[in-house]
Amino acid sequence: MTFEEILTNDDLLDAIYDMHYDKCTPIQEKAIPEALKGKDIMAMAQTGTGKTAAYLLPVIEMLINDDYPQDRVNCVIMAPTRELAQQIDRLLEGFSYYLPITSLPIYGGTDGKTYVQQRKGLKNGADIVIATPGRLLSHINMGYVDLSKVSFFILDEADRMLDMGFLDDIMNIIGKLPIKRQTMMFSATMPDNIKKLANKILNKPSLIQLAVSKPAEKINQLAYVCFERQKASLLKSIFEKETPLKAIVFASSKLKVKELSKTLRNKKYQVEEMHSDLNQNERDNVMLDFKSGRINVIIATDILSRGIDIDNIETVINYDVPRDQEEYVHRIGRTARADKEGTGITFVNEKEIRKFKSIEKFLGKEIIKCNLPDGMEPGPEYEVSEKKNKNPRKFNKKRYNSGVKKNQKLNP
Ligand code: AMP
Repeated sequence: MTFEEILTNDDLLDAIYDMHYDKCTPIQEKAIPEALKGKDIMAMAQTGTGKTAAYLLPVIEMLINDDYPQDRVNCVIMAPTRELAQQIDRLLEGFSYYLPITSLPIYGGTDGKTYVQQRKGLKNGADIVIATPGRLLSHINMGYVDLSKVSFFILDEADRMLDMGFLDDIMNIIGKLPIKRQTMMFSATMPDNIKKLANKILNKPSLIQLAVSKPAEKINQLAYVCFERQKASLLKSIFEKETPLKAIVFASSKLKVKELSKTLRNKKYQVEEMHSDLNQNERDNVMLDFKSGRINVIIATDILSRGIDIDNIETVINYDVPRDQEEYVHRIGRTARADKEGTGITFVNEKEIRKFKSIEKFLGKEIIKCNLPDGMEPGPEYEVSEKKNKNPRKFNKKRYNSGVKKNQKLNP
């Protein structure tokens, strides 16, 4: 389906074609017509499906075609991270290039000057405010934000927002919105807490569900089974063999990201780190350096796994096995964007084998296991080890009270 079949505004259509969007993605094909009918939407869609345009385009079209106050906030988009908020804002700038749509990004981690600018913007009103929950709430609590004329409210990556503990903030913000509004929720997964939230805040929504996406066929997926202590040398040896032009290494904690970056820097690799301890300026600089090619490797926590749109990433390395299949798909989905080829490599240690096997089960295939480099001691067998039951029988308080001592061996 082409955009001309569902959208009418010529300036908007021109901008869409300038951005080389030739036809709708499946989520856009389903969501845009429903949104234009004024319906609430609950869409299950992951990053990479074109979900951002699926809500931005109809909102822009509706804002242009009808009369909305210019000195108020007309649409609020909530995003879990600053990076995603920035990305939505950039896309919005592209779509509204020929249109008098005003937008205002509101996220934390910025300096005092930006806070003042945000305050001014919120007081003056903007068609579309794109915000992370904490920062928007801190402005709301200062008393100068008027959300009483909001017509559109969008929750992007709703599951991620709940995972990050934003439920109370979101409900607080929703409390400031008019009851009569159009609400759209986008979520990669549909756990119970998301269903509950949808029941609470949506009014007879259209349900849009795309099949759970698997990684793009073009991603070459590989794994190394190794001991945890071998991971750092393995990474160095992969980089020594061939430093990728652009790579992201995901590790499970900030501490690991920092340690690993240090180790690689000591070896004279040009790497930068990305995690929530960096302030917004630092994060922006890392992204700029990476996009411009000044650095070719970022070591990151999951902060970078979703929604970030960087072209030409050759290799994603999971230094640790991601916590579940969703995260795996998101992480390796950073490579092979827009039908390019890419490689996703996962390091699986002795304790992560069970988790990786369940990811393979979801993918419906076994990932190729590479041999460890020459000179490295062999890794563990790719077998789920039976758990050693260190404490076969729990301390039984009742028995203890009845005279059996804590350390006394109990007979079955
Ligand atoms: P998203 O799922 O919104 O993060 O979008 C993923 C990527 O697909 C972004 O780079 C978008 O600019 C791009 N994209 C979204 N819709 C289309 C489309 N209809 N045609 C081409 N590219 C698109």
